Amino acid sequence: MDVPFLDLAAQTAAIRGEVLAAIARVVDSQKFILGEEVHRFEQQAAGYCQTSFAVGCASGSDALLLALKAAGAGPGDAVLTVPFTFFATAGAVALAGARPVFVDVDRDTFNLDVSQIEGALQRHPKIKAIIAVHLFGGCADMDPIREIARARRIALIEDAAQAIGAEYKGRRAGSLGDIGCFSFYPTKNLGAFGDGGLCTTNDEALAGRLRALRVHGRTGAYFHEWVGLASRLDAIQAAVLAVKFKYLDSWSEQRACNAALSRRLFEEQNLPLVPPRPAPYQTRHIFHQFVVRCPRGRDEVQKQLKSHGIASEVYYPLPLHEQPCFADLGYKRGDFPVSEELARTVLALPVHPGLSEAQIRHVVATLARLLP
Ligand SMILES: *Cc1c(COP(=O)(O)O)cnc(C)c1O
Repeated sequence: MDVPFLDLAAQTAAIRGEVLAAIARVVDSQKFILGEEVHRFEQQAAGYCQTSFAVGCASGSDALLLALKAAGAGPGDAVLTVPFTFFATAGAVALAGARPVFVDVDRDTFNLDVSQIEGALQRHPKIKAIIAVHLFGGCADMDPIREIARARRIALIEDAAQAIGAEYKGRRAGSLGDIGCFSFYPTKNLGAFGDGGLCTTNDEALAGRLRALRVHGRTGAYFHEWVGLASRLDAIQAAVLAVKFKYLDSWSEQRACNAALSRRLFEEQNLPLVPPRPAPYQTRHIFHQFVVRCPRGRDEVQKQLKSHGIASEVYYPLPLHEQPCFADLGYKRGDFPVSEELARTVLALPVHPGLSEAQIRHVVATLARLLP
């Protein structure tokens, strides 16, 4: 029995007619960039994320860059974030002209270790913003982070690219800081038929700045208050996303069910792997990924799974402070021991909504046979 990591073909087949009709509507309108289609999707997204405003853009990476620019983070500033995340989180900081300052993550939640923020703020007085990442579909511990950011007048940006619909103490990702950033990369829980991204906010002034920044910082006809990007959401992507939005909750519920079954089977089998255990404040985890820790022999386990037809992935094998492009930041191996340990031990197992119970049982049974 083969177990694929993701099955977007099956997901698309189930909604094919609806999605093609939505695309045809855009083709007939000949309005391909922004416009009414994007506006409607933005309102749908703002409602879903429990924010007043949503601003579509070209990708999740651009959403982060737009958010940093809207928050006024640029050359001479530093931005605090984590080294255990997808590259774009810190890439956006560097592209904005600011300096990424890393703090380590928590071993159990994979997210920012709140106890390390104060120390970093003392060492780096020029920190202008914090990017809290909600990794794998679970929110960072936002209340204490927001308290620190408020007290010091630091902007709080959420990298919610993996967390659309996730809830922290009953409140949605994207509504927990000043600006939330989302990605609609095809493999995300809500995936477009191409690239797409979105910023959310409750602050009208920030929303206006984000809307200007995505069209070259334009605030009037051929009048530019800032130097912005060319980063718009295509109407075709918005139309596809609007259709998929109707199914997002059922897909995310299915992921959570798959994760719960996997975790139960892990415990029954007493496997020497650590399954994810969401924190109490995590009132809704959307399991963009189901990531276990393999304390020993992760790469060998992955190879063995592959030989049995079971796909798995490593997110992420090299922490950002060890990436060659960030060598000039002056970090070295050993600076963030938890991130480094996770890079050596994490393994993402299939959790996508198309999995059958038999496939999940097969993955765990195979692991039980492979592991001592
Ligand atoms: C996917 C992702 C991004 C970037 O989104 P793109 O749409 O691929 O540019 C940023 N941060 C995280 C955590 C992501 O997973």
